[in-house]
Amino acid sequence: MSISQDITIHIEPGEYGDPSFPDKDLGFGRYFTDRMFIQHYKPENGWHDASIVKRETLQLGPTAHIFHCGQGVFEGAKAFKQPDGSIGLFRIDRNLERFNKSAVRMGMPTISPEHHLKAIEALVRVEKNWVPTSEGSALYIRPVMVATESTLEVRASQDYSHFIILSPVGPYFGGGLRPVSVYVSHEHVRAVLGGTGEAKTIANYAGSIYATEQAREQGFQQVLWLDAKEREYVEEVGGMNIAFVYGDHISTPALSGSILPGVTRASILSLAPDLGMTASEDRISIHQALGDIESKKITEVFAMGTGAVIAPVGRLRYMDKDYIINDNETGPVSQKIFDHLTGIQYGIISDDYGWIHKVDE
Ligand SMILES: *Cc1c(COP(=O)(O)O)cnc(C)c1O
Repeated sequence: MSISQDITIHIEPGEYGDPSFPDKDLGFGRYFTDRMFIQHYKPENGWHDASIVKRETLQLGPTAHIFHCGQGVFEGAKAFKQPDGSIGLFRIDRNLERFNKSAVRMGMPTISPEHHLKAIEALVRVEKNWVPTSEGSALYIRPVMVATESTLEVRASQDYSHFIILSPVGPYFGGGLRPVSVYVSHEHVRAVLGGTGEAKTIANYAGSIYATEQAREQGFQQVLWLDAKEREYVEEVGGMNIAFVYGDHISTPALSGSILPGVTRASILSLAPDLGMTASEDRISIHQALGDIESKKITEVFAMGTGAVIAPVGRLRYMDKDYIINDNETGPVSQKIFDHLTGIQYGIISDDYGWIHKVDE
């Protein structure tokens, strides 16, 4: 469905002042750059009218398909200031590929990864002064595609809009690596086999909010999701993948068909041997994992995703019982992986895998 004419991006002229965001306490997705990229899709034209414009309200009527059917996909990637002053995008090819997989799963058109990259680069280039430099900060890139046709019919929309917004962000859970507490949900599930769990679709987040808010009320920051059928096998934590550490071995749930294939997860699986660790993708029973936490065979647990990179898990609650991991402290493996991966992202450690794509000046 992707129509491969070349992309010409119209950059609308305009007066923009200096970036305005604080040096500290950036939060996550609280500040946004002045401009955004947007293009539109019609079956007869394909993607057209690619432009970089002032970030403003989208013109969508109450009959727009997104409000009634929810066809919408998104991505999350980061740009980092490099020591030579350039801007590096981390494994952006993976995000663009996944964006198209998500789109196909949701019955939406795809976007040529080459054009999508050009759009991101053009936007980052005009907003280059918005890349924050304080410790742990980055410019978060959020591409989104939504269905815009005016209809209440339950079928694929004919028309779509694709936009990209940018947000200077700080560390996801505030400064440093502080362990999060996680509620294991046995009542609700995030995704089912054959469902949309592998797609980065807006609807997956919508379905997760009720359980997450309930966990919050009880003092937990995230929910651990189990498999939908047996409520036995560990899938993910919130919007992140999860790993259990046994000394110098890392075990993460194998991609089951209902787990979102994270870029951070894939990167950590690749890096583990370089850090003197082994890694495996397994079917992980929650009962086995909790038993291994109690017997201290599991030495650390961490969640992983673009936002936080690594979020150590200090406490798990399952059926009214609490399980404390590594005395609720950040462990050496979590710290080592975090330092190494962010070292590559900020250009401090050599990028042996070619994961950083520099945005041309
Ligand atoms: C985005 C996301 C992840 C993490 O993916 P990354 O590519 O590492 O950011 C994991 N789980 C869910 C549900 C997600 O939406």
